[in-house]
Amino acid sequence: MRIGHGYDVHRLISGRKLVLGGVKIEYSMGLLGHSDADVLVHAVMDALLGACGWGDIGKLFPDTDPTYKDADSMELLRTVMKRLLEASMRVGNVDVTVIAQRPKLAPYLDEVRTNLAEALCVEPDRVNVKATTEEGLGFTGRGEGIAAHAVALVLEPADH
Ligand code: MG
Repeated sequence: MRIGHGYDVHRLISGRKLVLGGVKIEYSMGLLGHSDADVLVHAVMDALLGACGWGDIGKLFPDTDPTYKDADSMELLRTVMKRLLEASMRVGNVDVTVIAQRPKLAPYLDEVRTNLAEALCVEPDRVNVKATTEEGLGFTGRGEGIAAHAVALVLEPADH
């Protein structure tokens, strides 16, 4: 078994759509980034890549590469997952925490969980997605950005 951690932050700005876990969230602002800036999926990818010892998403999908301009992060996650499967690795479980003062994310979390499970080729009970605020403190508390943490357990062939 191998464990990995991922952490990401994106800035909230007007005029962008907000996408978390592949789900379009109703909000007056969205996350700024080269791709769709899906901070939740970025943290999950970094957790998986970390567990595998494969660096991070910046190395795999450089933000200087026009290919990834406005990229669908769920597609990038499927690419990462394909690499895992090709290496005969699979996901044990994934746990994600999104930190956002606004908007309220609870209504969307089930759909995010279903999306992630499908992309990670596991049953939904292997995926957990939580949202919290930071009680008005710091950049998330001021609504300037959204952060996400993820941990992933990856099973190597001998563990299957
Ligand atoms: Mg990112």
